[in-house]
Amino acid sequence: MADAALTVIGGGAVGLAIAAELSRRHAPLYLLERNPKYGQETSSRNSEVIHAGIYYPNGSLKARLCVEGNRLLYEICGRHDIPHKRITKIITATRASEEGELHRLRALGSANGVSLRMMTAAEVTALEPQIVTVGGLFSPDTGIISAHGLMDYFHREAKDQGAEVQTHCEVVAVERRSNDYLITVSEAGGRSTITSERVINAAGLESDTIASLAGIDVESAGYRLHYSRGCYFALPASLSGCVSRLVYPVPTNETLGVHAVLDLGGRLKFGPDIEYQENRVQDYRVDEMKRGAFGASVRRILPHVRDEDLTPDMSGIRPKLQGPGEPARDFVIREESDRGLPGFINLVGIDSPGLTASPAIAKYVGEML
Ligand SMILES: Cc1cc2nc3c(=O)[nH]c(=O)nc-3n(C[C@H](O)[C@H](O)[C@H](O)COP(=O)(O)OP(=O)(O)OC[C@H]3O[C@@H](n4cnc5c(N)ncnc54)[C@H](O)[C@@H]3O)c2cc1C
Repeated sequence: MADAALTVIGGGAVGLAIAAELSRRHAPLYLLERNPKYGQETSSRNSEVIHAGIYYPNGSLKARLCVEGNRLLYEICGRHDIPHKRITKIITATRASEEGELHRLRALGSANGVSLRMMTAAEVTALEPQIVTVGGLFSPDTGIISAHGLMDYFHREAKDQGAEVQTHCEVVAVERRSNDYLITVSEAGGRSTITSERVINAAGLESDTIASLAGIDVESAGYRLHYSRGCYFALPASLSGCVSRLVYPVPTNETLGVHAVLDLGGRLKFGPDIEYQENRVQDYRVDEMKRGAFGASVRRILPHVRDEDLTPDMSGIRPKLQGPGEPARDFVIREESDRGLPGFINLVGIDSPGLTASPAIAKYVGEML
């Protein structure tokens, strides 16, 4: 008999949500995380926004799992006292030529089942007097959440149900055998192995590497990831009160645009920008030289913010399936029996809205099993 019924590789929000959802049904369940603690990579380097599901193509996994994840997150947060706030959001058109895009987003979001309302410039100004606007789109169900609070909850839930969470444990090989998988891990004391009937690859920025270790040709499967860094700049506390909800510009093809993100402590930052990285390294430095470009983006929405008000803050790296200038791709969540890997599920390209979608992704993976 195998050591584990199910092994989850990766202890970010998604891997932890899966462990919390499935540890009762698929015992023993192992979760293997390479860092000293869970949640140290992308899941703790993001805007911590509970997205509503506005931007994604109708019927896509991103749309479906974001809308369901939004509902589930509010439910989980309410039930388990996870810090969060239904703070709401406005997408503001800053010139008349952007208004058509607001209508397109409203139609797209409504088709996805998101509650949205068009606003006149006067209505936007009544809520947010300092922002530039010729009209807006209001999202009542967008919120903010403590990503660590959420992951602590998933972790507790998984452990209470008997999951074995192993940190300092990097998966370095995966071999399909006749009835199970042989997983080799590198840990402080050297190498060891675990056998598992089924495997879930939720390794975030390394999910393509894990797929490749399992024998998948990631180029032909379309699983090769591109690292795309997003940086933030913060405003001092004395200026943080200039907005009281999330404020986004009309999005571009590649990002939602540098937007105003409030955290649960009322701190205001702007970001993320987008910068594809040539090398696959986790370089989280925020370059001071970007201040001018950030200032210009921020002043599209808040004209009184000066470059010198902005300080480099944090950054995160998106695991993107599309390269620069290529059309946006959906999440890949796929059971790989047809590639000779029964019971092996890959989750690749889980960029935004992966935090929001995490509890819905966990249910979706549960159905696949
Ligand atoms: C700048 C930015 C802003 C974002 N804003 C939002 C937002 O506001 N709202 C939202 O919903 N989403 C947002 N996202 C997306 C969201 O953060 C991610 O979709 C989500 O965190 C992905 O979680 P994950 O568990 O898949 O990945 P991760 O958090 O990266 O977890 C993967 C884990 O796998 C581990 N791992 C990797 N390789 C191995 C190995 N070989 N062996 C063992 N363990 C391994 C890693 O150490 C890591 O802990 C944002 C992302 C970025 C970058």
